[in-house]
Amino acid sequence: MQVVKMELRGFKSFADKTVLTFDRGITAIVGPNGSGKSNISDAVRWVLGEQNVRQLRGQKAEDVIFSGTAQRRSQGVAEVSLYFDNQDNTLDIAFSEVVITRRLFRSGESEFYINKRPCRLKDIHRLFADTGMGQDSMAVIEQNRVDRILNSKPDERRIIFEEVAGISRFKGRKQDGLRK
Ligand code: ATP
Ligand code: MG
Repeated sequence: MQVVKMELRGFKSFADKTVLTFDRGITAIVGPNGSGKSNISDAVRWVLGEQNVRQLRGQKAEDVIFSGTAQRRSQGVAEVSLYFDNQDNTLDIAFSEVVITRRLFRSGESEFYINKRPCRLKDIHRLFADTGMGQDSMAVIEQNRVDRILNSKPDERRIIFEEVAGISRFKGRKQDGLRK
């Protein structure tokens, strides 16, 4: 599985539709301070279902929507799509290319899509569980997280190992089953 493309529109500083493509190998994002590098990693987290606004460096959910500048009006909706090459079937879905989309309106209305079909946040979490790419995985790792992993308690560290070992998706389903 590989991330091949990202499209942003109205997300944080990306007012206009912005398309980023990722080739094989390492991609480095460079630019002056405040140019939006971290906003790109925030977009990855957000589209993968991050619900914690502080992880996205905001105070409230709508902080991800372009808030306007001296020259430009604010926008009413933020949208991010992330495209995956799934030819190796890492994602348990019968498509060789998978695109997930998240949209948030200023009214608070929120939408998720898998391959352009509406879905629940839970479906996104389930699709990426144990792939190493989902929410809470090590796919997006900020500086202070490295320290937190090194200093974590054994039971916290166990959660990291369970994700890596690929069993957390079954735990999630077991919990869902017990609740019913
Ligand atoms: P550094 O090199 O300092 O880490 P960076 O390239 O990572 O900088 P970001 O933190 O990604 O920069 O971008 C910060 C910019 O994004 C700021 O100018 C901020 O005003 C802008 N920004 C953040 N949220 C929004 C929003 N909702 N609407 C408009 N602009 C926003
Ligand atoms: Mg930054």
